[in-house]
Amino acid sequence: MNHPENNPQYTGLNVNKGVMQPPSVNPYLHLTRRKTYSVQEYVDEILAGNITVLSQAVTLVESSRTEHQEMAQAIIEKCLPYSGESVRVGITGVPGAGKSTSIDAFGMHLLGEGHRLAVLAIDPSSERTKGSILGDKTRMEKLSVEKNAFIRPSPSAGSLGGVARKTRETIVLCEAAGFDYVFVETVGVGQSETAVHSMVDFFLLIQLAGTGDELQGIKRGIMEMADGIVINKADGDNIDKANMAKRHFANALHLFPLPESGWSPEVLTYSGHYALRIDEVWDMIHRYINFVKANGYFDRKRNEQSKYWMYETINERLKNDFYHNPNIEKMLPILEKEVLLAKKSSFIGAKEALEAYYS
Ligand code: GDP
Repeated sequence: MNHPENNPQYTGLNVNKGVMQPPSVNPYLHLTRRKTYSVQEYVDEILAGNITVLSQAVTLVESSRTEHQEMAQAIIEKCLPYSGESVRVGITGVPGAGKSTSIDAFGMHLLGEGHRLAVLAIDPSSERTKGSILGDKTRMEKLSVEKNAFIRPSPSAGSLGGVARKTRETIVLCEAAGFDYVFVETVGVGQSETAVHSMVDFFLLIQLAGTGDELQGIKRGIMEMADGIVINKADGDNIDKANMAKRHFANALHLFPLPESGWSPEVLTYSGHYALRIDEVWDMIHRYINFVKANGYFDRKRNEQSKYWMYETINERLKNDFYHNPNIEKMLPILEKEVLLAKKSSFIGAKEALEAYYS
């Protein structure tokens, strides 16, 4: 080509032939597209500890599409025989209690001992807030870059029951992938604790000192569920206050009857931020696990949990089928109006809807 720069006056300048302008659509795109696996391939990869495939399987568990759900259920069923071998720890505490800082510290402690840890979360508010704040990788700086840690935010769609069921199914997949510790994180403000309690072996409540009235704001029910209460931020000026809070909580726990496990919940102080006395927290958890394994409560509780989740799943499914039935979807707003206008009683409204569903 007759390029001006090819003129002899520019000797020494070599004009490159260059390459053709690439097309705007990447012709290699199909090569980078995600591979689709069969159920057996999913299972094999999960059992081999493939985290990428584990993540994709969890996405199937979380999906509401029927074909994804069917595949997810098939994968879970095949993974079940390889599950159950982890220590499952529920972690709760109000926002700011230091859950993510502590999970980072607890997790690094476990990884240091050669364990593998999955961190899951149940955050029923995430549907409203569009995106979960719990289990967010950026909140656990150290763990999030570790290859032996798997961090997954809360499933976001659906009712608490649905979200919790998905987390429980994810536990099965994580265990099959070789994670021998599983944390399930939740906020200490409501119903979600019961759901977490029903899927873990040890329930840890993170508390803070120095709010004056330590027991205020924690529902009695949550304290009753705790197998251990740990007072975070026991560092610097806060140590005395933390010790005082420890006494408060220990006294309060004395007033509760001994739990079914036979284990008296303990109260400890530690610092998640400075990683102080983390080993004491783990010592407590391990002593608990040994204790309940020895007295049979560990297996009994897991069996109870399996039963509970069977019924939860049935309830969830029945409810979903009912409310997503096209007939019912049309009928309900009309019935609702009639009930509001007192043209029909609530019971007659319910009866008519149910009869239409079962007819
Ligand atoms: P979360 O909302 O329960 O997850 O709480 P975070 O882990 O985000 O902690 C809330 C705040 O408390 C952050 O500013 C942390 O730096 C601080 N914090 C957490 N743990 C400790 C601790 O052990 N000591 C001190 N002094 N501060 C802490």
